[in-house]
Amino acid sequence: MAKYPKPLSRLIDELRKLPGIGPKTAQRLAFYIIEEPVESVQSLASALTFAKENIHYCSLCYNLTDTDPCAICSDSTREQSVICVVEEARDIVALEKTRSFRGLYHVLHGAIAPLEGIGPGDLRIKELLERLQASVSEVILATDPDVEGEATAMYLARLIKPLGIKVTRIAHGMPVGGDLEYVDEVTLTKALEGRREL
Ligand code: ZN
Repeated sequence: MAKYPKPLSRLIDELRKLPGIGPKTAQRLAFYIIEEPVESVQSLASALTFAKENIHYCSLCYNLTDTDPCAICSDSTREQSVICVVEEARDIVALEKTRSFRGLYHVLHGAIAPLEGIGPGDLRIKELLERLQASVSEVILATDPDVEGEATAMYLARLIKPLGIKVTRIAHGMPVGGDLEYVDEVTLTKALEGRREL
């Protein structure tokens, strides 16, 4: 392999640390950056540090935010009695796009995954339980429909139900426009279980 000048190989090494970036992509990005005007590169560099310095977790829901509490937690028009639990902050963006949920959120920052050594103590579960005062009437478990997400939902349901709070799990329905025969069994089963009366 050709040897790059030190500053260039350092840039490639840093880019390679990013998720989904292999050696070839890192190399392509590095060459692209080097050929850009210096103002563009400075703008990229300052966007990186500005985002890192100004984005933190909301102290209530653990969403990513530049204010505390976040815009959702401080919106008094939202239903304060319903909390939707998600694995990652980016799940909130997806749910907000549907415009069908007007309650609050709670981000766990992962799911229980014993094989990866991630237990309940590694997630924001204690913080969730602290939020479940008398004013909360329902907790919607919107963790992913995979093994870890299901295990996390079961775990949370066992903790929260005894508190007298309604616990629901989102129905993992059929993809719109999807063909029934091509949908995997887990999705189909969940779609059946989550069926509602029309
Ligand atoms: Zn918040």
